[in-house]
Amino acid sequence: MKKVGLVYDPIFMEHNTGSHPENAMRLKYILEALENYKIRDRMVDIEPAEATVEQLEKVHQSWYIEKVARFAEKGGGYLDPDTAVSGRSYEAALKAAGGVITAIDHVMTGKVDSAFALVRPPGHHAKAARSMGFCLFNNVAVGAEHAREAYGLDRILIIDWDVHHGNGTAETFYGDPAVLFFSTHQQGHFPGTGWASEVGMGRGEGFTINVPLARGTGDSGFYYAFTRLLEPVARQFEPQLVMISAGFDAHYSDPLAGLELTCNGYAKMTEIVKNIADEVCNGRIVASLEGGYNLGAIGHAVSAVINVLGEYGVRVEEPGGAPPDRIQPTMRVTIDEAINIQKKYWKL
Ligand SMILES: [Zn+2]
Repeated sequence: MKKVGLVYDPIFMEHNTGSHPENAMRLKYILEALENYKIRDRMVDIEPAEATVEQLEKVHQSWYIEKVARFAEKGGGYLDPDTAVSGRSYEAALKAAGGVITAIDHVMTGKVDSAFALVRPPGHHAKAARSMGFCLFNNVAVGAEHAREAYGLDRILIIDWDVHHGNGTAETFYGDPAVLFFSTHQQGHFPGTGWASEVGMGRGEGFTINVPLARGTGDSGFYYAFTRLLEPVARQFEPQLVMISAGFDAHYSDPLAGLELTCNGYAKMTEIVKNIADEVCNGRIVASLEGGYNLGAIGHAVSAVINVLGEYGVRVEEPGGAPPDRIQPTMRVTIDEAINIQKKYWKL
């Protein structure tokens, strides 16, 4: 068994978004599932610290950080058409980014083998000076900057398997060879970026990998992308730390998207990532919650991931009847295109 840290704080429930799909019930259902599967007992609780303004400023403009703070202070509302803010959202967002930082500290100092940050608001759409897609601050990007600053890392792998492209993270590190960003997402879906041809620029060229997936792509398609592209690239890049922007909206039951991943598929992907991390960086993985909006599924999917990280051997059930797993030749086209483009930078 491995020691897996769980970052959680009740403040995350107080980022009150009302009937918005990204609401506090998500965390309640995840915590319940972790308890029902007796996974939570085996995890190591990690209390998140608040990110400091200086830590946020590595990714975000100071005037934007202040704007979020003031907006929340005045009671909140909608900061952009998608992103709700309540009175305590600023505090929650500081702890969400800070939670990823604390998780990294625990993993880097060997207090735990890996960690899962059960945080909200999510982060991967947040840009330097703009909230977007339910995200205020980019938790994973802020965490990666901390890992680099505090531990001198110069090879960090971020895997973003949320069904939406992690455009905020991609933008943050687009010209940066120290952070390899790998994203699978539904093609043409929000926010519309993440084409395979977006490969990074300047010194960062070849360190952004976008794998758009056709609607309907399920477990086999993800497996194909992870084994044919992520695995060989990661072995060549040899990250010192692996981070996961862990969204669960690629699950077949998700109301906001159309990929057909199952809990078993999430487990398989985690296995692949864990094998890579075990091989090249002592198993150091920090995952952070992004999307995932079916309350009946999200707890099971998160449990499936943590079960693999911890090697607990729990049987995680598939809520409802899983769709037939299929990868049609047409679904492979976008993955093969990404592989072909990346051949310029990696041995594939
Ligand atoms: Zn998403």
